[in-house]
Amino acid sequence: MEFSILAESFYKMESTRKRLELTQFLVELFENTPHDIISKIVYLLQGKLRPDFEGIELGVAEKLAIRAISKSSGIPIKKIEDEYRKGGDLGQAASIILEQKTQTTFLVEDITIERVYETLFKIAKLEGSRSQDMKMKYISSLLNDATPLEASYILKILLGTLRLGIAENTVMDALAIAFSGSKENRKSLEHAYNVSSDLGKVAEIIATKGIEGVEKFEIILFNPIRPMLADRVKSEEEAMEKMGIEFAAEYKLDGERVQLHIEGEKVVLFSRSLENISSYYPDIIERIPKAVQADNIILEAEAVAMNENTGEFLPFQELMHRRRKYKIEKAVTQYPISVNLFDVLYCNGKSCLELPYKDRREKLEKVVKEDEFVKYIPMTTIKNKNEIEDFMENGINAGSEGLMLKMMDKPYQAGSRGNYWLKLKREYQNELGDSLDLVVIGGFFGKGRRTGSYGTLLLATYDEDNDTFPSICKVGTGFSDESLDQLYQILHPKVTIKKNPRIISEMEADVWFEPELVVEVVASEITLSPIHKAAEDKIRKGAGLALRFPKFTGKIRVEKAAEDASTNEEVITLYRGQKKVAHDKNLI
Ligand code: ATP
Repeated sequence: MEFSILAESFYKMESTRKRLELTQFLVELFENTPHDIISKIVYLLQGKLRPDFEGIELGVAEKLAIRAISKSSGIPIKKIEDEYRKGGDLGQAASIILEQKTQTTFLVEDITIERVYETLFKIAKLEGSRSQDMKMKYISSLLNDATPLEASYILKILLGTLRLGIAENTVMDALAIAFSGSKENRKSLEHAYNVSSDLGKVAEIIATKGIEGVEKFEIILFNPIRPMLADRVKSEEEAMEKMGIEFAAEYKLDGERVQLHIEGEKVVLFSRSLENISSYYPDIIERIPKAVQADNIILEAEAVAMNENTGEFLPFQELMHRRRKYKIEKAVTQYPISVNLFDVLYCNGKSCLELPYKDRREKLEKVVKEDEFVKYIPMTTIKNKNEIEDFMENGINAGSEGLMLKMMDKPYQAGSRGNYWLKLKREYQNELGDSLDLVVIGGFFGKGRRTGSYGTLLLATYDEDNDTFPSICKVGTGFSDESLDQLYQILHPKVTIKKNPRIISEMEADVWFEPELVVEVVASEITLSPIHKAAEDKIRKGAGLALRFPKFTGKIRVEKAAEDASTNEEVITLYRGQKKVAHDKNLI
């Protein structure tokens, strides 16, 4: 299939933010795509080559791309850089430059989607000393044969700047319409996506096997399942009201959520955002198979840092020491952990997702043996408010941050946040009722003791509908000298020349960052704001939502991707949940 068809679709899609229109463009594109390349189209649409969990990254630097454009156009690097500075989008700059191409190519090969995809894939796989030259060669060979429009999209994919604003749900709507004739079938697609985390594979199945194929879709060992998430409650009373007569309570440990896929000695670990994190935990890889008594299994656990001498749980930050590429062996002995299991999702070739919680817990305790390193998360059955208060007290004393409450007779709902699971944290008893996980989008240079670091950060929520990061507050309190230092080290390499188009902010920061890092904040309340853009127009026309007295809790949420940050919807729910909404409205 010609790449020009895809480039033209991209062009149309970039020109609209309307979901219905986007869906329509996607349906047309899917209907014209041969079935054997539909998965590739779906990945490319999202600016990827493979599903995220495979960790395939293009990693092409701007400088290299500029050299390649210069090589294939014969136009000097300086001129390309000037053009880039004017617009701030290298893909766009390339298409303008290539219009003025001084070198002519005589034998122009047709460029197909297959060729672009294969070449990009080769580029992603290149490693070693000569890889830069080879990447250059591959990129300029594509640019030689590409039209200016095609070149601009090839570069955007290479640089990771393709932003069509297409949410996964929109892709699923379009797939359902194109291949089953009805948007109603999206539910089945969602299920398949939730258990495989691979939208390309789901597209391929519906294109080749129809909706029946999708309905039969099963868990694939070593493909991560999208995690089930919990709603929050503020008090024991609210929990009793929502959970009914008898339910389970487990400690909510403050570690890293890990999904363990195990078959014999082969173990792969995925984080909450489905990144392969096996290399950070060689101790889990080595020790977990000994505890498992099944041919294959998918488990969920909280990996928690431990004080070896006292057996106490340590806070999440201690796990940061594990996030390194080198000398991991040393970190393993210096910062020991335990694996605290709370669920089983698959066992001996069969899904466990449909089993009620109590059966899953029973199975877990049957097929995994506890030892020094592998434990079940402490659990009890709750029938009244006293029991919940007592269990909370025990949990807090043992170092947990609260409780997870789970309905006994409910299945595991992959990929959704619902009320079958509730979380009750001690800190919720603060005024706002919960902490928020926000994306760092901008920074302001510090003064006085904070000179040389970013003394204040500009933070954003995630807007799922538009795939953007609208600002919600500036935060300048809660930082220790150490955390300021650490944040500077992490954020400095993320500084961009121009504000990323996914950042929505009227405020001018001293520096803009790639929207990637997630930090945790608490605040006293949520108010309507004429400046901030989170949930703009949702509560009142012309106003967004902002946090009042935000404070950094000290937690850098390395295990969360920017798209896992608190969403506009969650902030709206918290806003509505505030008792003094009427009063807030007078605050602007
Ligand atoms: P939070 O910011 O509260 O950690 P989250 O957005 O990461 O929330 P939630 O579903 O809201 O995810 O809260 C559940 C998280 O709590 C899980 O992702 C997991 O890491 C952790 N956790 C700790 N103990 C448990 C448990 N017993 N059952 C499930 N999750 C647990």
